[in-house]
Amino acid sequence: MLRKLFALIGALVLVLALAVAGNTWLASSKQIAVAPVKPVAVNAEAAAARLAAAVRFKTVSSTDDAEANGTEFVGLHEHLKASFPKVHEVLKREAVGKYGLLYTWAGGDPKAKPIALLAHQDVVPIAPGTEGDWQQKPFSGAIEGGFIWGRGAWDNKGNLMSILEAVEMLAATGFRPRQTVYLFFGQDEEVGGVRGAQQVVKLFKERGVKLDFIVDEGLVITQGLVPGIEAPVALIGVAEKGYLTVQLNAKAPPGHSSMPPPEAGQTAIGMMSLALARLEDKQMPAAIRGVAEQMFTTLAPEMHGVNRIFLSNLWLFKPVVERQLQKAASTNAMMRTTTALTIVQAGNAENVLPGRAQATVNFRLLPGDSSDAIVEHSVQAIANPAITIAKQPGVSEASKVSSSDGAPYETIARTLRQLHPDVIVAPGLMLAATDSRFFGDVADNVYRFAPVRAGPADLARFHGTNERISVANYAELIQFYHQLLQNASALPTSP
Ligand SMILES: [Zn+2]
Repeated sequence: MLRKLFALIGALVLVLALAVAGNTWLASSKQIAVAPVKPVAVNAEAAAARLAAAVRFKTVSSTDDAEANGTEFVGLHEHLKASFPKVHEVLKREAVGKYGLLYTWAGGDPKAKPIALLAHQDVVPIAPGTEGDWQQKPFSGAIEGGFIWGRGAWDNKGNLMSILEAVEMLAATGFRPRQTVYLFFGQDEEVGGVRGAQQVVKLFKERGVKLDFIVDEGLVITQGLVPGIEAPVALIGVAEKGYLTVQLNAKAPPGHSSMPPPEAGQTAIGMMSLALARLEDKQMPAAIRGVAEQMFTTLAPEMHGVNRIFLSNLWLFKPVVERQLQKAASTNAMMRTTTALTIVQAGNAENVLPGRAQATVNFRLLPGDSSDAIVEHSVQAIANPAITIAKQPGVSEASKVSSSDGAPYETIARTLRQLHPDVIVAPGLMLAATDSRFFGDVADNVYRFAPVRAGPADLARFHGTNERISVANYAELIQFYHQLLQNASALPTSP
């Protein structure tokens, strides 16, 4: 009897092992096979000099002052006119909200759905006290050691200038896109996009413009950031997380600290502490689903070692993999709506029980989790009707998930694989907010990607110190947009 049982278990283990092995080694690559294309020849030094000059304009945007650094924006606009004469001859240029720029490149086929390339002109300020940590002065636009240095070189003047370089080159050869191509360069992306992106979306709605797809800033070509893959991995952001901040308020009778209430959790601070502990404890569930699942199943066949075995067999190992991925902040954020306690305020005297305590909690919403659902979840988790919860201004719901198997996605993937046959392409989730979040109503698909190459040491440069892009990589950006525009023009747009 026991022998039979062992034989049965042995057979089961064997079947499982065979299934795991089969799934692991038979799973075929999901990368599209295309013939390599010779990238267009780019005068990288001259282009780098134009980007460096753009970096020198201190186009720092302000939440409340539309005129902040106005002369810097005007200076940048003049620089664009001088650098890209063909663009300004062939494309129509309109101001949006004064400093925003919308260019329209009329397509040959009026029936083809237009597309749009986005970037932003504004940059984040330099964190006070860190100016001295820069290897090159933050707005010097120095070209040194093969890099273009300075605030905006990567985020996002690199995108803006390389798009214009590509259009300039194409327009100079007489190329005309099949579908109309819009270029939009916002002036206030870093402070919410109210005067730029939101206005251009309004304009598109008024004009009845419906876009096939948009490519905006976002994810990049990662190098050495995906465990188990040595090759560069281009992650195309097919969705963007939402943003919600809530304020919690706890009220309790104020009093003298010599006679506090005898029970725990009766004071304003005690109640708030419990509430915050519960919010952290009862977070939204984390799971490999949606975009994270698409990403891992696309990457699994390209991996080696145990990563490949585990990710190729999520039917068996999902719980184990999920537990592992939750341990790192970056992969945890891909799998759930995150909960971050950011501000706490209560009390102002050491011997007084305050009458109220206030706290601010910031959530980043996974596609599928609405801000209402998160507020409801918070009410349940806190389980104390004495604590009020109020949404703060600036809520942005998670974006729709754009298709990762239709023609628009394939156009981007094809472009990358033609130019860089070694690059693995996969859909990804953008954790931060971009201007493109406003375009959901006017575009069928929104992709957040530029072929900026970033390794583990580069991530801190984004909005940080020593922002830069290499001259060679910058040339690749120009070649990417040059090829993308041609590929988009050649392919039939989706209905
Ligand atoms: Zn940006």
